[in-house]
Amino acid sequence: MSNSLIINLIYVLSSFLFIVGLKNLSSPATARKGNLMSSIAMFTAVVATLYMNEIISWKFILISILAGSIVGGLMARLVAMTAMPEMVALLNGFGGLASLLVGIGAFFQSTQTSAFFLGVVVFSIIIGGVTLTGSILAWAKLRGIIQKTLSYPGQQVINGAFLFGILFFSYQFTQNSHVDVLYYVIGISLLMGFLVVAPIGGADMPVVISLLNSYSGIAACSAGFVMNNNLLIVAGALVGASGIILTQIMCKAMNRNLSHVLFSGFSSGKSATKEITGEVNPINVEDTFLILEAAANVCIVPGYGMAVAQAQHAVRELSEMLEDNGCEVSFAIHPVAGRMPGHMNVLLAEANVPYENLKEMDDVNPVMENVDVCIVIGANDVVNPAAREEESSPIYGMPVINVDHAKTVLVLKRGMASGFAGIQNPLFFKNNTRMLFGDAKSTVQELVGEFK
Ligand code: NDP
Repeated sequence: MSNSLIINLIYVLSSFLFIVGLKNLSSPATARKGNLMSSIAMFTAVVATLYMNEIISWKFILISILAGSIVGGLMARLVAMTAMPEMVALLNGFGGLASLLVGIGAFFQSTQTSAFFLGVVVFSIIIGGVTLTGSILAWAKLRGIIQKTLSYPGQQVINGAFLFGILFFSYQFTQNSHVDVLYYVIGISLLMGFLVVAPIGGADMPVVISLLNSYSGIAACSAGFVMNNNLLIVAGALVGASGIILTQIMCKAMNRNLSHVLFSGFSSGKSATKEITGEVNPINVEDTFLILEAAANVCIVPGYGMAVAQAQHAVRELSEMLEDNGCEVSFAIHPVAGRMPGHMNVLLAEANVPYENLKEMDDVNPVMENVDVCIVIGANDVVNPAAREEESSPIYGMPVINVDHAKTVLVLKRGMASGFAGIQNPLFFKNNTRMLFGDAKSTVQELVGEFK
């Protein structure tokens, strides 16, 4: 059997494993298996490509495997669960960087000058450049290094001018393959990544994260065309397509359309929200226990603070205590709770909360009036009634979990700080809300202690 036939067979097998792996990733119950399958497929494909095409010797392959495993292992060990979203943003950026370098490398190495080849080179560079700088900015925003959104008069016109410029120079490049023109394309695409992500912020960030994820797939796909590698085309297309689907899901969850998120910006909104009237009603652990002990049904709504506190195991224990007490317990998960898609599902699955106890926002909201007690654990933006009630709010129109419709709401957080969107939350001032201040994990552990 020839080398190219063996490689193609491995590619077919890998593509099959990618597809089955992706399918498995769609449920927390099978996600680990899906991750492993896709990793094995990628590993086998990379080794086969490098070795069988005699690109590098097996010694270098072994050294690279060792170096990659050490870096990957250290990252997996050292990066905290709360920093995972930032890491995902950075990894998207690395995908963009790889595509950018492949495009540049292929141009300087190849003697091809066909319009198609130059077209895929320039596309790989544009999408790679935009993904790289856009992801770095998204990383900085998720990490809290940059908190402001950047809006200025004529933003759309300026972005439009850059877009026109990039299209113009790309066309020029495919016609004359001048390296100077390529430098313009590289410069503008790097700048555009920043410009496109700069005005996006607050509650719109999930959309941009999933969009950049999709771009990194499209970048890999175009790098596949540049290098004429079928598997990279397939893998990139799968990531690109699933990223677009996720972007759509996120847009739907936020009740926003993509063009609105990309072109209208997000105001931090502090000045836009109206003054909140009402009083904050704090409560202590003992009184909270009495309320919970008497409840016939409880709905738990986790948010980013649960991830920060790593309270998921304590929360599962509390839910079991409540159930033992004859109470019906459910978990309501908002699609953008936390800092990455599926963040809450991952944490609760890690703590072995039964999957059937997790309810989606659309299933919970219609029956919220019947809930005795809603426990909000480190969630803020996703339970903010201003999204329903205040037209001037930057999150107005975004579907939220209507916890304020429950008979009693217990909010567990450390203080009165705002959430990621940086806006105040009138929920904390409602008559049926009690604020239980403190770190979520310690507070929930104290409640478990009361039940014991
Ligand atoms: P928020 O960011 O709105 O609020 C989290 C709250 O947790 C804070 O108000 C904070 O208040 C509290 N908190 C922090 N640490 C602790 C702790 N140790 N114990 C108890 N409470 C704590 O979270 P939500 O999940 O409600 O909303 C997610 C937000 O992030 C949305 O705006 C969403 O758009 C955005 N986002 C989501 C992404 C995704 O893909 N899911 C990606 C990027 C952004 P305090 O400091 O007072 O304790």
